[in-house]
Amino acid sequence: MDSILVKGGYVIPVDGKRRIIKDGYIYVSGGKIEALGKIDDSKVKEFEHSADEVIDASDCVITPGFIDTHVHLAQALLRSAVPDDIPLITWLRDWVWVMQGVYDHEDGRVSASLCVLEMLRTGTTCFLEAGFHSRYGFDGIAEVVKQSGIRGILSKKFMDLTGYAEEEQIIPQGMIEDGRACVREFKEMHRRWAGVEGRLDVWIGLRTPGAVSDELFLESAELAQEYNSGITMHLAEVKEDIEYFKSRGTTPSGFLEKRNLLGRKRVYAHCVWFNDEDIRIFAATGTGVAHCPSSNMKLGSGIAPVKEMLRAGVLVGLGCDGGPSNDAYDMIREMKTAALLQKIRHNDPRGFTAWDALEIATIGGARALGLENQIGSLEVGKKADIIIINFKTPSVKPVTNPLSLIIYSATGLDIRDVIIDGRVIVRDKKVLTLDEDRIYKEAEERKERILEKAGKTREHEKLFNNI
Ligand SMILES: [Zn+2]
Repeated sequence: MDSILVKGGYVIPVDGKRRIIKDGYIYVSGGKIEALGKIDDSKVKEFEHSADEVIDASDCVITPGFIDTHVHLAQALLRSAVPDDIPLITWLRDWVWVMQGVYDHEDGRVSASLCVLEMLRTGTTCFLEAGFHSRYGFDGIAEVVKQSGIRGILSKKFMDLTGYAEEEQIIPQGMIEDGRACVREFKEMHRRWAGVEGRLDVWIGLRTPGAVSDELFLESAELAQEYNSGITMHLAEVKEDIEYFKSRGTTPSGFLEKRNLLGRKRVYAHCVWFNDEDIRIFAATGTGVAHCPSSNMKLGSGIAPVKEMLRAGVLVGLGCDGGPSNDAYDMIREMKTAALLQKIRHNDPRGFTAWDALEIATIGGARALGLENQIGSLEVGKKADIIIINFKTPSVKPVTNPLSLIIYSATGLDIRDVIIDGRVIVRDKKVLTLDEDRIYKEAEERKERILEKAGKTREHEKLFNNI
């Protein structure tokens, strides 16, 4: 494995000290961070000599790669294919699940390729996928992740009931799977993909509390123990979810506690409708939250009490969610949304700082995933997952406060280079491991095919004036 010296620019290690190193450097060897500091360090001369590659990062900012804790790889193909202005349950029932219900393996592979391409291009180096139906083709998607060089946790979706919240029969049959088959596929995929290249892992992706039977919940908790696997699920996303818990005489945290689903490497997406007790229990058990502000805003779901969660010590990560609910897999834009949303929730500009935003997008996500000893910050001995953000662009000039510029002025497309496991994956805004043009072509073709199979072509033409 090559050694790389990145020198010049600002280094923001996100190591708990909230410091920015001006004129910094970072030296990577054997896939890990071996040294970092000020460029006038006497060791830099040695590193210049020994490095296989020297990357000039003057006019740039160097940070840890972003960790997206809630992504739907299979929804990238549905971007702009779902009407923008409808609430979550209708959005799922009439559109997302109808279209995903006709996917085949090739659709799954192409959607994942497009999503991973965008994540890499915008500086995401690690992600947690919410869960695949077997019809998306787990192997094809995992192969994309392996080839691309990104770090990814793929989840096998568990959904064996037709309900969402208290409503019955709203999930199309094409999206339901037999519980036994889910468990079998999880075991097989875990055997085949967990630990591949030290970058891939396989978790259990429970869909929602109302879409999983009690027997399958019970088995999931046991499976996770046996395989030392994580679990992720959508939780308390919309008000209807709370009605569901109330009708069963419980709360989101009470529901999970009873099913032995709290603890480390348990990551729940959204958690918008949380009360103080839910927050206290999550903090006490080390249970993770994937905060998805853009998705919550677009679907009008509500505002998660993230400031209160952080104050209580909950492990909060940031998530972009899916193609039709965000509609971008861009963590820089997501950080800005997260910061602005908390400020407005509290009617207080101190409601959420730029540091809070950067931390939940990096080390916070690593903690939620149980990977904080390996990734999430630039520290000696950690895996070298590093991004270099170009600051030679009008939207971030002049440079006084680089942190503020990343959160409020930059976008993901300002990322210039991405290094994962000490390997350059994006160089000068080009993803080296994926064929961009081919992915764009395939995405258009597959999208047309999905619309046609789902019987949505005509509705689309009418809705979006595509004459
Ligand atoms: Zn989601």
